Amino acid sequence: MSIDTTPWGRWREVGDRVFVRRNKTLDMNAGLVLGEDRCLVIDTRGNEREGRELYRAVRSVTGLPHVVALTHSHFDHCFGTQVFADAQPGCEIWSHERCHADLSANGRCQRAEIAGWLRESGQEVLADEVDAVRITPPNRTMSCDATLDLGGRHVVLHHPGRGHTDHDMVVEVPDAHVAFVGDLVEQGAPPSFDHAYPLDWAATLNRLLDRLSGVVVPGHGDVVDAGFVARQATEIAQVADVARRLPPHLDDAELEWHAGRLAVGSAAGFIALRRAQEHLAQLAQL
Ligand SMILES: [Zn+2]
Repeated sequence: MSIDTTPWGRWREVGDRVFVRRNKTLDMNAGLVLGEDRCLVIDTRGNEREGRELYRAVRSVTGLPHVVALTHSHFDHCFGTQVFADAQPGCEIWSHERCHADLSANGRCQRAEIAGWLRESGQEVLADEVDAVRITPPNRTMSCDATLDLGGRHVVLHHPGRGHTDHDMVVEVPDAHVAFVGDLVEQGAPPSFDHAYPLDWAATLNRLLDRLSGVVVPGHGDVVDAGFVARQATEIAQVADVARRLPPHLDDAELEWHAGRLAVGSAAGFIALRRAQEHLAQLAQL
């Protein structure tokens, strides 16, 4: 008899009635927090099939009415949302206000971009699934802090500043000392800089560190702790330091050379330096 030791597709209780489900697609984490009256689902995965699978997994744990919190607008965290809206019409769907704005304005564009990328890489079935996603912007928004009452326990929705995006929302469960930090932190892969603010990200993580007191659930990979977050903040601070010291308008070859010396790695570092230089150029024009 073999024992299945893969970490995928099962709930792991990381604090009192606080669960994480590591999903094999992109090693993305979904969360579940149980109150006495309601449960909170954190992120909904990357298409409606994946959302349905997650919904069934939630229902294998609890029959409580659900509330949804979206950490940010990237498809792998929010394209399964409509499944939860269908299952419970009018259910609260929370995000930062700029996540709402981004999904409303650019959700269809993101869907086409991701489907196109999947199709180009030969993943036709997944591409069709993404094409079929109904974009569901949140119906509740916050800008800095909001508190949700799940019955007998509160969770805090918090925006610590710009980082992986301009609207990352952290979900804190104070009584269990667990925080879901979305893609502000990634384990098992470098931080993702495509829509990031490399000049601000480390300071955002350092502010967040003041609030972290236990288990940290990253957007992807295994759960970590504050020490891991501090190390990732140091790596991202290095990107900002290097970007500030480089002359503007470097060509790709020169940027690649500098990126190859960054702790985040050359591929992530290249995108990070490019983003940082764009932001420095914008600041110089102010
Ligand atoms: Zn992301």
